[in-house]
Amino acid sequence: MNKGMIFIISGPSGSGKDTVLAEVFKLCPNLNFSISVITRPMRTGETPDGKYRFITREQFEKMIENGELLEHNEFVGNYYGTPKKYVEDCVNAGKDVMIEVDVNGAKQIREKIPEAVSIFVCPPSFEVLKNRLTARGTDGAATVEKRLAASISEIARATEYDYLVINDDLSEAVENTVAIIKSARLKTKMNTGIIDGIVNK
Ligand code: 5GP
Repeated sequence: MNKGMIFIISGPSGSGKDTVLAEVFKLCPNLNFSISVITRPMRTGETPDGKYRFITREQFEKMIENGELLEHNEFVGNYYGTPKKYVEDCVNAGKDVMIEVDVNGAKQIREKIPEAVSIFVCPPSFEVLKNRLTARGTDGAATVEKRLAASISEIARATEYDYLVINDDLSEAVENTVAIIKSARLKTKMNTGIIDGIVNK
């Protein structure tokens, strides 16, 4: 059996990454979403069995100590990390896995797993980014400015990624992300099991 592939996806606040991903998952049934452990409080609308497992700082630090995390990062005072086990189980079962992380987490994964395919979701322009962050209407001007600065510093690191998906038109961004996943899956080195099965029969 061929091993599953590891995809990394990042995108700043205002990139629309979550919307793109939700559509991509509908189109890629073999793709599994990697679970994250995090220490920030649960927000309204989030559930304990969603994409995040909410744990205490003590539990998180124990996981670091035990070497249970593939990567981890501290983001605005809270820890975020990817447990190794889920990713390894998926890959060994031949299932592809999508890991959503920030730019620092992506760097750590790339260092450990160079064959992981990384995708950066980016807004089409500065103006669109600013409009998206302002249009939420939930944040004051100072917060919008802070989020904007944080997004820009993440976008400055987009060239560390293998692929850039511009999210202007949603369906095009989804189509392009699926195309990246499909072409990575079609690489010969990802299909040696099939080749061996024929040649060594
Ligand atoms: P939020 O708290 O808004 O859900 O996420 C904050 C940031 O943490 C986002 O940039 C998100 O992509 C990132 N993030 C989510 N899960 C993980 C993870 O497991 N590891 C790392 N390093 N970042 C994560």
